[in-house]
Amino acid sequence: MQFTPTRAAALDRLAQFLPAAGRRYAETRNADDGPQPGGRGNVSQLSPWLHAGLLDEREVLDAVLSAHGPRAAEKFIAEVFWRIYFKGYLEQRAAIWDDYRKGRDAALAALEANAGLRRALAEAVAGRTGIEAFDVWARELQETGYLHNHARMWFASIWIFTLKLDWRLGADLFLRHLMDADAASNTLSWRWVAGLHTKGKHYLARADNIARYTAGRPEGALAAARLALDAAPLTEPHDFARQRLDLPGPVRPEDLAQPFALLLHDEAAHHAPLALPRPPALVIGASRPDARSPGAVGTLAADFARGAIAGGMAEAAAAFACPAVAWRDGEPLAPLLAEAGIARVAVPYLPAGWTRDALWPDLAPLAAAGRVVTLLGDLERATWPLAKAGFFGVAKAIDGLLAECGIGAHG
Ligand SMILES: Cc1cc2nc3c(=O)[nH]c(=O)nc-3n(C[C@H](O)[C@H](O)[C@H](O)COP(=O)(O)OP(=O)(O)OC[C@H]3O[C@@H](n4cnc5c(N)ncnc54)[C@H](O)[C@@H]3O)c2cc1C
Repeated sequence: MQFTPTRAAALDRLAQFLPAAGRRYAETRNADDGPQPGGRGNVSQLSPWLHAGLLDEREVLDAVLSAHGPRAAEKFIAEVFWRIYFKGYLEQRAAIWDDYRKGRDAALAALEANAGLRRALAEAVAGRTGIEAFDVWARELQETGYLHNHARMWFASIWIFTLKLDWRLGADLFLRHLMDADAASNTLSWRWVAGLHTKGKHYLARADNIARYTAGRPEGALAAARLALDAAPLTEPHDFARQRLDLPGPVRPEDLAQPFALLLHDEAAHHAPLALPRPPALVIGASRPDARSPGAVGTLAADFARGAIAGGMAEAAAAFACPAVAWRDGEPLAPLLAEAGIARVAVPYLPAGWTRDALWPDLAPLAAAGRVVTLLGDLERATWPLAKAGFFGVAKAIDGLLAECGIGAHG
């Protein structure tokens, strides 16, 4: 399917998928039917647009609730909340992201000294392991920038338990090629498969399950011979203590009384979901897809991210009748503000991940000087504190969260 990095394309895909988001989604979502030119029929494929902030969870939930009501849409709604849950969880344990980066760098360094490992990794990445299903997904990931959720689970499981490769290198491969690459969903899902998120509970891929749920692919059911069926979950020597969340309150018009700049970044590339109380005097766009990894980022993923920011800047400049400037990698931010005579910058919340790593060094001194106003949606503000441990803490509160945030309240 064509993933065009615009809000219009996101809204088109939402409208196209909406009729299938009710019971049909619950019944068919587990099938990986392979890439379809007009988009898959059983899953939304909205994740690249959601990650880029061209569309937000609130809008998706609202549309789905209006179309199907809370019970028929229960499964789809829960999946959208998984995304919010993972964000909230990582926000309270940001050390997991730092630990992932250190582990990834150590795993990359270990490759230097081990030709056998280098070869095994190269074969996995090229889709030449001889495990048909894995090889198909390895190529599909790099050729399309998207994998079905079940394929991601099987792929990660085979990577860790059958091929015995370092999970951080697999997570890195996903981050470099997925158009929806997300520090929270990706890192925590790999940890979940490995048995690190829910300690001692790992996910072992099975050939019969793969064959059953891939039967609808154009090439037929995928084979997966010689999978490790009794591997033990991974363990790690430390726990990650939960940090208290310090979330910003709703933005008040007086916070932005003076002319201000709006920063669009890789997780918030469009102004529409941000509900600003006043128009900005300047739009600044910053795209940093290369910060995902020390390795090369795939063209599809990088183009989607850069395209989202370029389009988001143009649309915001037109909507607010103000100039837009690019804040390029390696350039300081302060002169862009000084040149425009602007003191404050409105920054959509930067969750733990590479976008925060790349942008925060420049923003921190401005924040310390009281010049940053952070924007955070009410759904995140209400949900993140519940993402303390397992998903259940969020799942049982979904109805209340929707009501509290006025989502799906159409009378
Ligand atoms: C190893 C692994 C790595 C992953 N990496 C990412 C990633 O980098 N970025 C990412 O957005 N998702 C990731 N996921 C979660 C999930 O696979 C994708 O969100 C989903 O496949 C996107 O396709 P979709 O939009 O068609 O989903 P749909 O089934 O249509 O679901 C609707 C939306 O709900 C959210 N969602 C659905 N399932 C999940 C889930 N299990 N976890 C979190 N959110 C979910 C997504 O935002 C998705 O767009 C990963 C899962 C695994 C197992």
